[in-house]
Formats: sequence, structure tokens, C-alpha cells
Amino acid sequence: MSCHDIGRGMNYVVRRTITLYDRNEIALEPAKKIIASCKNAVNWCDGNGYEAIDFILNCRCGKCLKLVPKGEKLYSIFDLPYKFEDTHPNLDEELELASYGLCEECFDRYMPNFCDEEWNVESLKKTIENDKHSNNFLSEGEHQMSNNGCSWLKDRYWYEL
Ligand SMILES: [Zn+2]
Repeated sequence: MSCHDIGRGMNYVVRRTITLYDRNEIALEPAKKIIASCKNAVNWCDGNGYEAIDFILNCRCGKCLKLVPKGEKLYSIFDLPYKFEDTHPNLDEELELASYGLCEECFDRYMPNFCDEEWNVESLKKTIENDKHSNNFLSEGEHQMSNNGCSWLKDRYWYEL
């Protein structure tokens, strides 16, 4: 059984990072690096990377950090065709993604770099959209209001939200 608490702790830092980014207190690239570190840091215990980024998982692009409006497309790299994934096993690193999701604009802009005669951007998008097991390519449009089933820590420090 994996540890869910380290993911909750890291997700708390992800929420803080997004708050600072949205206030223009930190820039895009540092914000993405902090979030990617949180995703990686769950390996200091038996944690899950997706829990560390639960706050942004279903609503923000991992490339541009845009909050994608509800119902608009947010493609997960995990929903790409298996045969495509096999040839690009470290796509999140190659794309420098803070999470696993790409807004449609970033998908169109960056995925052509990974396409060949077999796959193009449109065929990749269609495969994701037609996958009956993938119902999460549409953004929920809002941040998770709980931290993996728990209330957020009460902020009582000088850096309150
Ligand atoms: Zn984007």
C-alpha cells in the first residue's frame, strides 16, 4: 500500500506555488520546476506523483500553467496511444511538463516535434478523444477543493493564501 500523506504534503506546496504564480510573485519556469519537484519528491516515500499534483491535475496545462476552462480540452500524456508512448517513454521530461496534461494550444504547438509518418497531431488527438477508457481529456475548470479527500491545512503563517 502506498503512502498518500507525502502526496498531500507535496500537493499543499503545489497549491502554494500556483497561488504565487497567479499573483505574479514567481515566474512560469520556476513555478513549473517547483511543481515538477513536488511530483518527484513523493519518491522519498512510497507516494504517487499524480497525488502530488492533484490541485492542478484536471484543470491546468503542465506546459503553460494556464487554467483551462471547464469542458475545454486538456490532454493527458498517459492517454496517448500505447505504441506512441513506447517510443517516447519520458515525454513529460522531454516536454518539460509540470504535470501530465497539455492544453490544446500547447498540444498543437509542441507535439509535432514528436510526430513521424505513423502519427500526426490530429491522429493523436483523435485517439485520445475516442478512447472509451479516457473520459478525462476535458478540463474540470477548477482546482480540487480537498487535498486527496482531506481538508487543507489551516494557514496561519506570514505567507497566508
Ligand atoms: Zn498550455
